[in-house]
Amino acid sequence: MSKEELECSFCGRKKSETSLLIAGLDAHICDRCIEQAHGIVIEESKHSDTSDLSEALQLRKPQKIKAFLDEYIIGQDTTKKVMSVAVYNHYKRLLQAPTEDDIEIQKSNIVMVGQTGTGKTLMAKTIAKMLNVPLAIVDATVLTEAGYVGEDVESILTRLLQAADYNLEKAEKGIVFIDEIDKIARKSDNPSITRDVSGEGVQQALLKLLEGTVVNVPPKGGRKHPDQKFIEVNTENILFIAGGAFDGIEKVISKRLNMQAVGYSASMSDERVDHNHLLQYIIPKDLKDFGLIPEIIGRLPVLTYMDPLDAKTLRAILTEPKNAIIKQYKKLFSMDDIEFHITDGALDFVVEKAIEYKLGARGLRSLCEEILTDAMFEMPGSDEKELKVTKAYAEDKISKTTLKKLKAVS
Ligand code: ADP
Repeated sequence: MSKEELECSFCGRKKSETSLLIAGLDAHICDRCIEQAHGIVIEESKHSDTSDLSEALQLRKPQKIKAFLDEYIIGQDTTKKVMSVAVYNHYKRLLQAPTEDDIEIQKSNIVMVGQTGTGKTLMAKTIAKMLNVPLAIVDATVLTEAGYVGEDVESILTRLLQAADYNLEKAEKGIVFIDEIDKIARKSDNPSITRDVSGEGVQQALLKLLEGTVVNVPPKGGRKHPDQKFIEVNTENILFIAGGAFDGIEKVISKRLNMQAVGYSASMSDERVDHNHLLQYIIPKDLKDFGLIPEIIGRLPVLTYMDPLDAKTLRAILTEPKNAIIKQYKKLFSMDDIEFHITDGALDFVVEKAIEYKLGARGLRSLCEEILTDAMFEMPGSDEKELKVTKAYAEDKISKTTLKKLKAVS
């Protein structure tokens, strides 16, 4: 090699002028050129992301979408079907070329009604994972009208921007999951003279967002502030999925069904009403009677419900989904070369306790954690290479914890 000072083969800077010079086969590159090249790579990948979406959609017909959901979510067949169609139509709408026939496909925002812990968030997460689009999960209870203490509805879009790594194009095709939408229901039927800060006002503020509008979003969140820079986000192609437990909505449904039964006695009594599972009869009017304003309901045109989780479903959730809890523990133990087994009896016991303590699916994880913490603490680093969890083992570990603690974890 010559005594001459090495230089960057891209920009020609001498080694002494750079902070770092990396050698290749017969060329060198400096830190600045690496950074520039990295920028180009990022820019390029942004462009390919959009074409990915259309490609993904070509491949994801509704039945394929449902099959994907089946891998991660147990049961909830009705919702999976409804969601698959809604999501497919939503993204078809994004890809449609402007046509001459003036038919504009309406947005298919979704509202899911079902008890907490039945998989509503999981549903939204799985859809976002499948489509490889950013997802923001927000809680409706923290939202307030502009000017009140709490977060403006625009904060929803700040979250989405963050989830998209500030790639505006990606964010504008993302998904927003608004949890606890039922908590912003109007508190009473008589609109009062005093303003209803937490309820109707927020619903009003959400309207435009759901429908599609351009919003000035403070990229770092927080209150709007005169000298803060805004990013303009168009919500036209953002899919909104709302979820809520709507506690007590069964009464509304039951009342309506009974009234119908009186009005059209023959037709309703002919059909058997399953009183243990009234959610399946839900219609948009029930949401209105619960306290959502008609304009919001109109902008969430796809309405679906989640089934409560029974023992059989909870048992399946433990072992069947692609990243089922038990599969995760198996993997954790195997990383320490420990073979982990759990008997059917022990699994049934976990389900039994989750039901007994009313912990739902979320409780499954906290129960497993209680059962396995000792082993996960003691076994790595010991000579034991096999763990077999039986019902007796599980009972022993659970008896040592307090119910109060489990409730706090879940
Ligand atoms: P929700 O949003 O309805 O309150 P989540 O989606 O947060 O409920 O569910 C809580 C946890 O329970 C999830 O992380 C998931 O592991 C589990 N879970 C709930 N329902 C199901 C289901 N149907 N299939 C698989 N896992 C589920």
